[in-house]
Amino acid sequence: MQRVAQPFKHIDSVLQPSHNLKRNALMAILALSWVGSAAGWAAMELRGVSSTVLRGVFGANMLFHPVMFIILWRKLLSQRVVDVACLLFAVGLCAACMALRLYAPVFGASIDLQPLYLWIPVIYVFAFTQMGHTSSLKLALAILAIFIVISLPYLVFHFDEGYGNFTVQLHMVSAVLIAALYFFSSYQHRFQIAQLTVDQLARLANTDELTQLANRRRMSEAIESELLRFARYGHAFAIILIDIDHFKSINDQFGHSAGDTALVALAQRAAEELRDVDTLGRWGGEEFVVILPETSFTEAIHKATALCAHVAAKPLLAENRITISCGVASVMAADTADALLQRADEALYTAKRLGRNRAEGAAGNRV
Ligand code: GH3
Ligand code: MG
Ligand code: MG
Repeated sequence: MQRVAQPFKHIDSVLQPSHNLKRNALMAILALSWVGSAAGWAAMELRGVSSTVLRGVFGANMLFHPVMFIILWRKLLSQRVVDVACLLFAVGLCAACMALRLYAPVFGASIDLQPLYLWIPVIYVFAFTQMGHTSSLKLALAILAIFIVISLPYLVFHFDEGYGNFTVQLHMVSAVLIAALYFFSSYQHRFQIAQLTVDQLARLANTDELTQLANRRRMSEAIESELLRFARYGHAFAIILIDIDHFKSINDQFGHSAGDTALVALAQRAAEELRDVDTLGRWGGEEFVVILPETSFTEAIHKATALCAHVAAKPLLAENRITISCGVASVMAADTADALLQRADEALYTAKRLGRNRAEGAAGNRV
């Protein structure tokens, strides 16, 4: 079985914290925050300073956190969705508290929503764990803008009064915090890039981000070096061009990200059928290419036929079977990479025309 290359992802995903680390950290934050909310709520009730608004705030917290915790724990939704939900919830809650505190002091007479402002910096820190430093900066500034817009009408009239002053200070501290977070995350980004070895950078340049297979650039190089070996030592080889059948309808039916999952699953399924010496790569979109060293044209057609059968044998995407078509070409005297690929492409076209889920050999190789 051919092994799929060690995972090595696009530079931004390499530099982001691992998925598991982020998931565990968020679960810990949700659990701690739930305990904190429960304690805060109990303390307010015991002191007799709670109110309907405060109960609403704590109640929302106490419901939302366990729900998100369970979703993360059971992996019911993707981490990205949970991250966005938590961010929206926190921004929404803090914005609501700020609006109530500033414009509805009747609620604030007995309770004080102001301490909840203290959570706003945590939102900016969270925003900076989400994406690369530039996108995170934009996100954090957008959130700051929301808080400024909410408080602006109040600040126009109460700039130098107690809560006005406090809110201005909050915005200023937020801006400084965002600048500091941006500075640290861009510094960290540069530092991490500097830490990457030449070898790692070469792997990044040669690896397809989605499937972790060799990418088109790497496969072109590999075909060129096989051609050189053939010209010098007469080592024959063949290539198989693979194209998924009716992939557009898979995307249309199940969505683009399910399509991506199918591409990854297909890469693994195809690798099972190949030898260690074969190289499987992603040629682009839903097309793959295989290089079969020391392989005759007839053997390559057998291999491609077996590959089609192996992919079609079991469901690939949930309960759905996916089929592929293959075009096979083997090296000929004075061949070029372009000519070889062109023959494989024509054979692939023939396989499609003859009904798909099949392998066809290049007409040029038969003569
Ligand atoms: P055919 O059997 O003739 O090959 O039909 P097809 O629908 O597969 O047609 P075609 O090969 O032209 O379609 C390729 C489709 O693959 C179009 C594009 O939306 C989709 N696609 C290309 N790259 C990706 C990708 O990275 N992810 C996903 N999900 N879809 C992709
Ligand atoms: Mg295609
Ligand atoms: Mg296709």
